[in-house]
Amino acid sequence: MHAGKYALLGDVHSNLEALTAVLKDAREQGVTDYICVGDVVGYNADPAECLEMIREMCCVCVRGNHDHYCSHDESLDDFHPLAANVIDWTRRQLTSDQIAYLKGLRLTHKLSGITLVHSTLDMPEKWGYVFDTLEAEAHFNYQNTSVCFYGHTHVPVIYEKEGRVKRKTLTSLSLGLGRKYFINTGSVGQPRDGDPRAAYVIYSPTERLVELRRIPYDIAITQEKIRAAGLPERLAKRLELGR
Ligand code: ZN
Repeated sequence: MHAGKYALLGDVHSNLEALTAVLKDAREQGVTDYICVGDVVGYNADPAECLEMIREMCCVCVRGNHDHYCSHDESLDDFHPLAANVIDWTRRQLTSDQIAYLKGLRLTHKLSGITLVHSTLDMPEKWGYVFDTLEAEAHFNYQNTSVCFYGHTHVPVIYEKEGRVKRKTLTSLSLGLGRKYFINTGSVGQPRDGDPRAAYVIYSPTERLVELRRIPYDIAITQEKIRAAGLPERLAKRLELGR
């Protein structure tokens, strides 16, 4: 069993100020390993910087839908126009080497008792959203480790399966034995649960302890960069609302 302390980061979405604040907190908390559940880029204005920070930490990272579409020339018709606009912009900010990095990310990853996926293990390439116990149930059919971390919805939550699936608020939780957990880490760079602070999770496998951390950062700087880049104003506004 790994004796370290994992930081699980997801949906960084090119928000350098939030990522920097989260990494500082993780260091102060004595984190030893960094894991990313995808969507390093998209929405905010520092895609290359965030990608390089994640890459330099050599952390295990799975591919999110924004990582995918920013590195593949596929049609953006299925995207909300706001998201499509930024994906198109982001494609032009990245070097071919950075695009190759995103392309090379795997959809799922397993390491010492933990599975990682951006959306759901139920057809991860379709990028389905898990918002309720029914969708979590479909996911659990494919989860064979006791813990799986994911992102995509930008809403931190725990689904616990012991027989039927229960949805629990995520703050600090000690994981029971003989159960399975599907845990959303919340979003570093664009939280949507009404709390604008950056979110990430610390997991200590030896103590089986999961903790949600909320970290304030200088949102005004991130908003200023969005405006300076000519990205949609709504993307700046939503950061302060946490929506
Ligand atoms: Zn996302």
